[in-house]
Amino acid sequence: MNLHELLHKDELTREEIVYLLSLKNEDDKNLLYTRADEVRQFYCYDEVHLRGIIEISNYCDQNCFYCGLREANLTLTRYRMSPEEVIATAQMITNLGIFTIVLQSGEDHGFDTDLIAYIIYSIKQQTNAAITLSLGERGFDEYRAWKIAGADRYLLKHETANPKLYSLYHNKQKLSDRIEHLKFLKNIGYQIGSGNMIGLPMQTVEDIADDILLCKEFDLDMAAFGPFIPSPNTPYQSKNSGSVELTLNTMAVARLILKNVHIPATTALATLDEDGRIKGLNAGANIIMPDFTPNPYREQYQIYPDRKCLKDDPRKCRSCLQLQLESIGRRVSSSRGDSLKLTPNEIINWSFK
Ligand code: SAH
Ligand code: SF4
Repeated sequence: MNLHELLHKDELTREEIVYLLSLKNEDDKNLLYTRADEVRQFYCYDEVHLRGIIEISNYCDQNCFYCGLREANLTLTRYRMSPEEVIATAQMITNLGIFTIVLQSGEDHGFDTDLIAYIIYSIKQQTNAAITLSLGERGFDEYRAWKIAGADRYLLKHETANPKLYSLYHNKQKLSDRIEHLKFLKNIGYQIGSGNMIGLPMQTVEDIADDILLCKEFDLDMAAFGPFIPSPNTPYQSKNSGSVELTLNTMAVARLILKNVHIPATTALATLDEDGRIKGLNAGANIIMPDFTPNPYREQYQIYPDRKCLKDDPRKCRSCLQLQLESIGRRVSSSRGDSLKLTPNEIINWSFK
């Protein structure tokens, strides 16, 4: 079977996925990205959804080996935004015409169930935005309370589908737990996002193929694939960054396999490559997640160093992105950008919530 036929197959085997992920020749990669772009166009049209991130706290009880927020990193100045600051930032984001707010933090139990519920409820009262939570693994009762308070989506990356690697990267957590959490979140009605990091130490292309297949099994609403970037004061500070090429290949193959799913061009990709966002949007992505965390906090949210746009004024972000998108024939969506898997009835119910 030639590459063209392979790219038009409805189902791909693990071996075929590994083959596509490993493409290096420019012409072959261009064929892959063009096909991913066609599939993206079919399911998502030309709209790009913006998700405004507020990094509400950089405290974390976990010790993920790759991440600068890990508890053992004592060099970091820690912060926790006040509910009023978070709510005001969410209002600023919706005033810019961005209708998904992502509340992200380390696994910070100092932000307790009620405080988070209060923030969610207040934002839902004052704006018509969807709320995505990205707060790490929390209690099942907490997920339920936050859903009742109005949260719509939960982003919890599985990071790697290889249980041995997962245990190496996380000395306190297990892959089986993460999978249980994702299943629970889906069962109680969250739209769920997951995904991996590309280029983690010891990871193989076969592992990445398994990551995509696990995303398929989860029947995700959003799948995020971002490159690993070594972070100072972590055990992996001297490791190499993930490859931009392999990240783009992964996003494109994921689009072929997962089809009607949201795929972001991640900030990590834009950090490693000046044109990373545009390259990602041309290789299957339909989402951008700009950071709206106010100063001085945004500089202290050091998951990895030198994040793209870290020093820019967030209020200029939307118009800057709009220009970039228009240059490739895409446009900023003015909708919430809910799951592409909702039925027409579900969409009506969501919009009346
Ligand atoms: N604590 C939450 C949310 C914050 S971390 C959680 O872990 O889910 C958000 C994401 O940042 C993680 O899922 C991980 O994929 C990514 N990340 C962490 N360290 C990184 C690094 N060094 N390079 C690139 N991405 C990283
Ligand atoms: Fe904490 Fe998330 Fe970083 Fe892990 S990836 S150390 S849970 S912030």
